[in-house]
Amino acid sequence: MQHNRVVLDSLREELAPFSAQLIAVSKTRSAAEILPVWQNGQRDFGENYVQELVEKHPLLPSDIRWHFIGHLQRNKVKYIAPFVHCIHTVDSLALLAEIDKQASKLNRVIPCLLQIHIAREETKFGLSFDEAADLLNSPIVRAMKHVSIVGLMGMASNTEDWSIVRNEFRNLREFKLRQQIDFPELTALSMGMSGDYRIALQEGSTMVRIGSAIFGERDYSKQS
Ligand SMILES: *Cc1c(COP(=O)(O)O)cnc(C)c1O
Repeated sequence: MQHNRVVLDSLREELAPFSAQLIAVSKTRSAAEILPVWQNGQRDFGENYVQELVEKHPLLPSDIRWHFIGHLQRNKVKYIAPFVHCIHTVDSLALLAEIDKQASKLNRVIPCLLQIHIAREETKFGLSFDEAADLLNSPIVRAMKHVSIVGLMGMASNTEDWSIVRNEFRNLREFKLRQQIDFPELTALSMGMSGDYRIALQEGSTMVRIGSAIFGERDYSKQS
């Protein structure tokens, strides 16, 4: 699709100076919609729903790196553990322990990000900064051999007041920098979506998760 190529090229151009990674968020998109984006060279895709991802991934090229970016229930980890590239939404010790357990059965190490609640809305999932610091310092977590916590993820408030959005991203980055003193492996910062990725890049994002700017507006009525 010509449209995809133009959008992807301009996104790549914008991201290059920041060395940030583009994750194409493909939730609700069919394999037929995803394939042209892959054909234009995109390899990192983000999905929110376990069942949808499990159904879709065998239909698509095996070199796709699937990022899980939705709320993840413990009892569903086993379905994605064999192939998921990175889980961005770890928000409890129990979930991390389950990922570690499933990854150990597969003899894998699954890269994970801690999801931090930075927005003002109560509906968004995630750990507080204090909870995240506790988790990082927990001896139980340090003993886990099949997960590696490689960064943090956050979603900013859904507002047009960009100073609020910028501040939330900035707080997340500053928290990451403080934690990196003890945990230098904490390098990734997954922040920014179609509406706010430019601000996220300016505030130090290393992974932007972009859906509608690539695929067009989502139509949830088409979901099964
Ligand atoms: C849907 C979603 C995105 C992409 O949103 P767009 O506004 O379509 O770019 C990014 N991150 C998460 C966690 C999402 O759920």
